[in-house]
Amino acid sequence: MLADVELKSVKVIDEGKKPAVFVTGCAGFIGSHVCDYLIEKGIDVYGIDDLSSGKFENIPIGVDFVNYGLDNLAPGDFQGIEFDAVIHLAAQPSLLKSEEYPLRDLEVNGLGTINVLEFAKAHNTERFVFASTSAVFHDGNLGVISCAENDTRLTPNRPYGISKLAGEMYVRALSKSPYILRFANVYGPRQVPLGENQLIARALSHIYNDTPFEIYGDGYQTRDFIYVRDVARAVASAALEAPNHPYPINVSYGSSVSVKAMLDNVAFVTGWEGEWKKGEPKPSEPKHVSMSNTKARKILSWYPMYDIQKGLAKTAEWWKKEFATL
Ligand code: NAD
Repeated sequence: MLADVELKSVKVIDEGKKPAVFVTGCAGFIGSHVCDYLIEKGIDVYGIDDLSSGKFENIPIGVDFVNYGLDNLAPGDFQGIEFDAVIHLAAQPSLLKSEEYPLRDLEVNGLGTINVLEFAKAHNTERFVFASTSAVFHDGNLGVISCAENDTRLTPNRPYGISKLAGEMYVRALSKSPYILRFANVYGPRQVPLGENQLIARALSHIYNDTPFEIYGDGYQTRDFIYVRDVARAVASAALEAPNHPYPINVSYGSSVSVKAMLDNVAFVTGWEGEWKKGEPKPSEPKHVSMSNTKARKILSWYPMYDIQKGLAKTAEWWKKEFATL
């Protein structure tokens, strides 16, 4: 099994040249942790981000950063630099916004992805890692989503899922060595609440800043929660180590937990003694989501190293240091 130092074994493609990676969305929640991990392992990291939802201060020291939108990225940009992999994380990541602004959602997640693929091609970079999501599935109104990686009957019913699925398909069509990683519910430091899916960030904001919070429904809906450092390790493995594998891979904890149990854990690690308020269920939300990680363990030689309590403790510690007003 690989330890947290696994990338020390990265093959240096050209003797004397350090591996170099291009990361889109490097100022975002997940992107900044991916950059952290790569920099720690001695990889040269180049990144772009338009700072639409990411923050400049998230970008780790050492990243060669350009404030750039996907719409503007041209094949000739970063000329002369050979990248061993392109990691495409920049996206319009909000389900709600995708319904409000479906055109912009498609521009960023669909056309933007094609631009990044053209960029990779111009740089002769074969390995292309794409951040996808369980939203490419549709629950068929059964309320249960079992994210089987070999399921080819994908019929997402919300614009974000549709544009992300389009992204997956373009990556498979236009990249010589595509890596499609479908992330479960990612949580950790630097995630900020956007008013919808970021359960942990919204709960911590409630505890430390007294912002309004309610559970959507009874809290017995289940999700798979994965700590962001584990996601960063999986992305790095897909970018620089793993053998070719053109089919989607789930990056998940591998077991689901109810929203209520997760919130009870948040209360436990923070010592909070309040009551979680229950609100109306969201009709568009699936009741249960489960994502096996068997494939990631095998293909990426990866496994999650953070259990819920360890991941939550790290997240709460960061939140308290950065934002707490109470
Ligand atoms: P995020 O919003 O923190 O990061 C996205 C980054 O992309 C931001 O820094 C934003 O400024 C940048 N960006 C957006 N539009 C851009 C554009 N047109 N040009 C350049 N930069 C642009 O979100 P995140 O949670 O870190 O998500 C990262 C990726 O992971 C996304 O592709 C998202 O769809 C995917 N994903 C996230 C989760 C999760 O639980 N957070 C789950 C599944 C998939």
